[in-house]
Amino acid sequence: MVDAAPDSSSSLNVQCCIVGGGPAGMMLGYLLGRAGIKTVVLEKHADFFRDFRGDTVHPSTLKVMQELGLLEDFLKVPHDEVAKLNALFGTTSIRLADLSRLDTVCPFIAFMPQWDFLNFLDDKGKRFYNLSVRKNAEAVELLKNGDRVTGVIAKTQNGPLRINADLTVACDGRHSLMREQAGMNVEDIGAPMDVLWFRVGKPQGSNDSVFARIQSGQMMVMLDRTTYWQCAYVIAKNGFETVKAKGLDEFHDNIVKLAPIAREHIGDVKSWDDVKLLSVKIDRLTRWARQGFLCIGDAAHAMSPVGGVGVNLAVQDAVASANLLFDKFGPGGPSLANLDTVQDRRLFPVRATQAIQVFVQNKLINRAISDKQFDPPLPVRIIGMIPFLQGLTARAIGIGVRPEHVHSIEAKRV
Ligand SMILES: Cc1cc2nc3c(=O)[nH]c(=O)nc-3n(C[C@H](O)[C@H](O)[C@H](O)COP(=O)(O)OP(=O)(O)OC[C@H]3O[C@@H](n4cnc5c(N)ncnc54)[C@H](O)[C@@H]3O)c2cc1C
Repeated sequence: MVDAAPDSSSSLNVQCCIVGGGPAGMMLGYLLGRAGIKTVVLEKHADFFRDFRGDTVHPSTLKVMQELGLLEDFLKVPHDEVAKLNALFGTTSIRLADLSRLDTVCPFIAFMPQWDFLNFLDDKGKRFYNLSVRKNAEAVELLKNGDRVTGVIAKTQNGPLRINADLTVACDGRHSLMREQAGMNVEDIGAPMDVLWFRVGKPQGSNDSVFARIQSGQMMVMLDRTTYWQCAYVIAKNGFETVKAKGLDEFHDNIVKLAPIAREHIGDVKSWDDVKLLSVKIDRLTRWARQGFLCIGDAAHAMSPVGGVGVNLAVQDAVASANLLFDKFGPGGPSLANLDTVQDRRLFPVRATQAIQVFVQNKLINRAISDKQFDPPLPVRIIGMIPFLQGLTARAIGIGVRPEHVHSIEAKRV
């Protein structure tokens, strides 16, 4: 482990410092804390309560929860279980995936605000004395000794905190500062779209099962958050200024045309301040590790919202990392060769998933938001007609490529 100097209010010595309390960081923190590794997770915000997070917990993540003995409690957290994903092309409804056909413990997507998911992991992790989750702690500088990363400096409410770590893991998302400071090489794959993110109230008793709506050059996904719809309206890359220039009234009209159920509460979008621009990108690092340092989740491979799979891929990365590294924290921590095994294991699923996202973005979404006469392409119509194929798409979305299972152990003394 790092030098034996005692912890103080301005310094901390850990075996693993995880930067970022998103799905990747919180799951990895939980698993390493469970395995008895002295771990700190740094989250720059005061809580997890931010509304621009993906809300989908897929069967693969639910299976991980079961393997950890957490599933029963997890399913008590309020959520909606959705098995059939339907898209509305104009007035034609097409079933794109049917998760009830999956042979798995939870054959559905649990729609749950992501802050509930992260709070759950935070709460359950409190029993591991080796794990500390520090909120209001923003990593601002990566510490290096020659080629080796040796920890971070974090900005906290009590002033700067120096964290010396055998291993630092960047889980700080798509705009990762840590990967930038580590000089990691990024391959930009690109995305032709951005997303406008806003909420409209849900009429009482509304129980609409349509997930995606596509019509007259527009596309929107609506996530049911019990009392309101969280809307993700897809626009062309860098197109927000053009949308704004047309005015808020036209924006309201377009949304209502696309989703008549939004009519009653569209006035909730009072100004452009109520509409957040989420910039979509797809990229990945050519190498995920250097000595003392590893990137996982969006920090290693930014995912597009297509398929709503990024959260689950981040969780899978965390499970694989813990499986491969939990017993490698001898003196000095995991070697670079150990760290490279994470990329060896996860690169194929990431590449395959990103390739599908690029295909859907370019062949479907890009056309859907530019072509006023957009009809569902033949492959989509064929999927809509054949339940067996809806099971295959469900597998791609819900389980993904090379699902991970928990092999890291629970240390005896917790
Ligand atoms: C518009 C949009 C919609 C999406 N919708 C979905 C969806 O519905 N379902 C789905 O599965 N995926 C969705 N995704 C993809 C998904 O959001 C990501 O793939 C996923 O969140 C990645 O998880 P992560 O833990 O790697 O990173 P993040 O979720 O980005 O978490 C990173 C965390 O690090 C913290 N952080 C950042 N910098 C620092 C720092 N310096 N110090 C300390 N903390 C720091 C952040 O506050 C954050 O909590 C969507 C993506 C976009 C762009």
